[in-house]
Amino acid sequence: MEGSSNVHSQKRQRTENETRMGKLLDLDVLDCPVCFEPLTIPTFQCDDGHLVCRFCIVKVSNKCPGPACNLPIGNNQCSAIERILNSVFVLCRNADLGCKERFSYGQVSSHEKEECNFSLCSCPKLECKYTGSYNSIYDHFIGSHINNMSMKFIFCFVLGDFAIDAKINIDDKNLVIWEPMEKLFFVVQCFRERLGVYVTVRSISQSTTPELRKFSYSLSYSVDGHTLTYESPEVKKLLDVSSHSPEESFMFVPNSLFRGEMFEMKVGIKKLNQE
Ligand SMILES: [Zn+2]
Ligand SMILES: [Zn+2]
Ligand SMILES: [Zn+2]
Ligand SMILES: [Zn+2]
Repeated sequence: MEGSSNVHSQKRQRTENETRMGKLLDLDVLDCPVCFEPLTIPTFQCDDGHLVCRFCIVKVSNKCPGPACNLPIGNNQCSAIERILNSVFVLCRNADLGCKERFSYGQVSSHEKEECNFSLCSCPKLECKYTGSYNSIYDHFIGSHINNMSMKFIFCFVLGDFAIDAKINIDDKNLVIWEPMEKLFFVVQCFRERLGVYVTVRSISQSTTPELRKFSYSLSYSVDGHTLTYESPEVKKLLDVSSHSPEESFMFVPNSLFRGEMFEMKVGIKKLNQE
């Protein structure tokens, strides 16, 4: 404590004339080299100073992804870059569409993906690049993908509590479930990580659309007489199908209970009581 206050008192006091704005010419230096998303706090570094974001630590199995580097990574946070992340401010990507918000760079993705009223949704089909308003996404998906996509990867339901038997090939990662009356999309996502498979359900919509109902989901997976079940809190609304393993609200199936590439489970979707 003593030491840190000493350092503080030695900090150069900038006079008003000395306070200057800087410009970072290339924001890419603040992106994770694995997922290319903005680094967030915590950001980790190896002993050679290569960086990786907290979401990708698991993906790289704690081995540094830096060029020709295989050092362990994940124990040391990079406080220098974290201070920069907190001090670089950017405008929301939707500034042209009318959003007036500005954020520290490390927070911009969560705003743009979850909170911004001006953000567009992405088509839930993984390879498709279409983006649009929440309603246009639905029409696009039905118009462009339903006939082309094998029906075994897509389910349709009509609102009301329901459960389906879902089969996902673990390499397909996503199963899209849609509801035609209120035009809702739910995406069941599987992520294979080192110790097992994470399964989660997310809904594709603008979290700020007030008229949308709230849902929860349940998952149930049985193998060799073992049954795992999971009951979620409110389903997370996202603008696009995330490529990150979930940090909250998921069912974890350890490798010891995983058989083959086909993953079969029961998925239930339930309306939450709303005031
Ligand atoms: Zn990353
Ligand atoms: Zn490294
Ligand atoms: Zn915004
Ligand atoms: Zn599409």
